[in-house]
Amino acid sequence: SISAKVKLPSTYSFKQIKHIVLVASGKGGVGKSTTAVNLASALEQEGAQVGILDADIYGPSIPLLLGLQGAEPKAADDKNLLPFEAHNLKAQSIGFLVPSDDATVWRGPMASGALNQLMNETAWGELDYLIVDMPPGTGDIQLTMSQKVPASGAVIITTPQDLALADAQKGIAMFNKVNVPVLGLIENMSYFLCGHCGEPNHVFGKDGAVTLAHRHGVPVLANIPLAIEIRESSEQGNLIAKDNAAKISETYKTAARVLA
Ligand code: ADP
Repeated sequence: SISAKVKLPSTYSFKQIKHIVLVASGKGGVGKSTTAVNLASALEQEGAQVGILDADIYGPSIPLLLGLQGAEPKAADDKNLLPFEAHNLKAQSIGFLVPSDDATVWRGPMASGALNQLMNETAWGELDYLIVDMPPGTGDIQLTMSQKVPASGAVIITTPQDLALADAQKGIAMFNKVNVPVLGLIENMSYFLCGHCGEPNHVFGKDGAVTLAHRHGVPVLANIPLAIEIRESSEQGNLIAKDNAAKISETYKTAARVLA
C-alpha cells in the first residue's frame, strides 16, 4: 500500500517547532489552502514565528498564494532545503519541487517520496507554529501523514454544503482514529454579503458546520464569508488577513487567537 511507503520519521526538521497544526479538508476546493495561509499570517501578526508547509500533492497552491511562483528551492547544506520567506512567514511547498502540472498525476510512491523529503529535509529553524496544508481527503497518504507528523492538532475546513460536511465528518473520524485532537472547524464560504442590501445570503446552506461541530464536541473557529476580496488578493499573492482595512482580516485573527 502507499502508506507503507510514506516514512516520516520526523527527526531533524521538526525538532525546533513548538506546535504543528494540520489544516485538512474532506474534499478539494473548499478553500483549505486559502484559509491555511491566512490563518498562518494571523498567527504571525499575533507575534508568533510561523511556517507553512504545503503538502497538498494534488494542487499545491501556497507558492501562488504567497507570490512565490517559479521560486527555486535552495539548499541549506548538503542535506537540507531552506524554507522560502514571504509575508513574514517561512514556507515550503511540494510545488517548489515539481511543476504544478505534474503533481496531479503523481503516483503514490513518487508523491510519498517528495513528501518525505519536504517533511524531513526542510531547515525550518525555530518556529512557534508550523501550519501544514494537507492534501484534501482521507485516503492513505493523509492518514499516514496524520499518524507520523507529531501534530498538536488539526483544523478542518468545510463549506456549509451537505457533501462537504459529510466529508469533513470523515476527516474528524480520521483524526480521532490516530489520536490527533481536532482543534475546531472553520466554515469557509459561509455566506455571501450582498453588495446592495448588506444582508448575508447563505448560498450553500446554513448552520451545517455548527451542527457537525456540536455533534463532535469541537468548536467552530470561524465563519468566513464568500468574498471577492479573498479570491482577488489570493490571486495577487497578497494575504487578506494582513489587510487591516478588510473586515474579513479580523475573522482570521479571531480564529488564530482561539488557536494560540
Ligand atoms: P482548496 O485548498 O480547498 O482546494 P483553495 O484555497 O485553493 O481551496 O480555494 C479554491 C478557490 O476558491 C480559490 O480560487 C480561492 O481563491 C477561492 N476561495 C477560497 N475561499 C474563498 C472565500 N472565502 N471567498 C471567495 N473565494 C474563495
